[in-house]
Amino acid sequence: MNNNGFRIEHRYQELPGNFYTRVQPTPLKNARMVCFNHTLAQDMGFHVTDESDWAKIGGGTALLDGMDPIAMKYTGHQFGMYNPELGDGRGLLLWETIAPDGRRWDWHLKGAGITPYSRFGDGKAVLRSTIREYLCSEAMHGLGIPTTRALFMVSARDPVRRESIETAAALMRVAQSHIRFGHFEFAANHEGPEATKALLDHVIELHFSHLQSLPESERYARWFTEVVERTAHLIAAWQAVGFCHGVMNSDNMSIIGDTFDYGPFAFLDDFDAGYICNHTDQGGRYAFNRQPRVGFENCQYLASALRPVMDEDSLRKGLQAYETAYNERFLFNMRNKLGLSREAEDDLQLVMDTLNLLNKNHTDYSAFFRALSNLSSDGPDPVRDLFVDREAADKWLTQYEERLQTETRNRDEQEAQMRRVNPKYILRNYLAHQVILEAQNGDYEPMKELLKVLERPFDEQPQYEQYAALPPEWGKHMNISCSS
Ligand code: AMP
Ligand code: MG
Ligand code: MG
Repeated sequence: MNNNGFRIEHRYQELPGNFYTRVQPTPLKNARMVCFNHTLAQDMGFHVTDESDWAKIGGGTALLDGMDPIAMKYTGHQFGMYNPELGDGRGLLLWETIAPDGRRWDWHLKGAGITPYSRFGDGKAVLRSTIREYLCSEAMHGLGIPTTRALFMVSARDPVRRESIETAAALMRVAQSHIRFGHFEFAANHEGPEATKALLDHVIELHFSHLQSLPESERYARWFTEVVERTAHLIAAWQAVGFCHGVMNSDNMSIIGDTFDYGPFAFLDDFDAGYICNHTDQGGRYAFNRQPRVGFENCQYLASALRPVMDEDSLRKGLQAYETAYNERFLFNMRNKLGLSREAEDDLQLVMDTLNLLNKNHTDYSAFFRALSNLSSDGPDPVRDLFVDREAADKWLTQYEERLQTETRNRDEQEAQMRRVNPKYILRNYLAHQVILEAQNGDYEPMKELLKVLERPFDEQPQYEQYAALPPEWGKHMNISCSS
């Protein structure tokens, strides 16, 4: 198919041959377009009139001129165990395009069929998890958190066997890069220093070009520190918004610091510090409150992979940057959520007291901070009502009001700022579940409506008040498995 004049590149293919395998997509039956992200297409520099043409690409029956699909090879640590057998097992990198603003976009079709790295998998993706990934990556973007994006998705008639028989689907996932920490682990453990250096130079040239002109050892050192800091900042953003990733394996860690690979993720409903959203993670390795630590462990895996091409001192210093970057950003985010513009010594204590109180009362995390953002206009009741122990809530509110007395901003300005960081609308698991049920019955409109709401999570959207409601009991702590 004609490629509409895209500026096309295949820079990934300049890496040594073992980094990928050419694979053609496996066609799906009668793939139909479910949802197309026209706003994103515009940012990427193109415009779509006939969505059905694109359904063919999503369904693996057509390619645009210049697309040259490959499966990328990577390895990684899964639940702490090194797995050399990984790689794109069901996704293909079709090409890279450059947008008018100079931004680079990898186009990755997830659910494109079997590849040499599929192991026991069938190469397919199901409707349920494809919708979840579409919704969540766009929700993350709406929240201002770095993430891969969803350009479009198709569904098809092919049956896919999971715990039950499900419907096939495919997602065109786009991102500035699809390179993971696991790419470096592959290079280091299986290909040697030269390949590792080639990968490193590739990543710096394409995604950290501001470091290009530095002498090599300084360039590498600064790069590693930046990757560590981006990772720490990403996780500080997750913790502040109450996002639980669920599968923080090193092959799911983006080298540019995007949220990457949406599986059994969850946004917290009732605050539960130790929440485990991944049903198969029995040990709680990736529990909510372990994420900051796991982010660091993944940086350690990356450092190990870089040891043959970087000096020990730079790696050590880079790793040391994690704790400061995380702590400072987390406190900054939480101060913003509480509407504190001045830095006071006891702020961290106040944040910890707040989280402890929410934890004890199983208070809805997002609803709490949103209600707090309207405290002066709506009064304390919407906040108090979220607590079982009203006395404890009142005590906390008194402490909080005292702290606010030391602020110099006027209350309206302060609360307006709070509403820009405390979302009214988040992708609660039960909301995703509801639109998935509708989609499985052939109605994709509810999904599109939810997407529209999640695009502007901080704005009041009175016609969509129902999406901001507390979850029903059945909707809390839903079991989401890894099977997708
Ligand atoms: P994940 O748990 O999503 O990070 O996936 C881990 C690895 O399993 C990656 O190499 C995936 O490409 C691969 N994988 C996941 N699902 C499938 C599937 N249905 N078919 C083939 N490979 C898969
Ligand atoms: Mg993955
Ligand atoms: Mg996955």
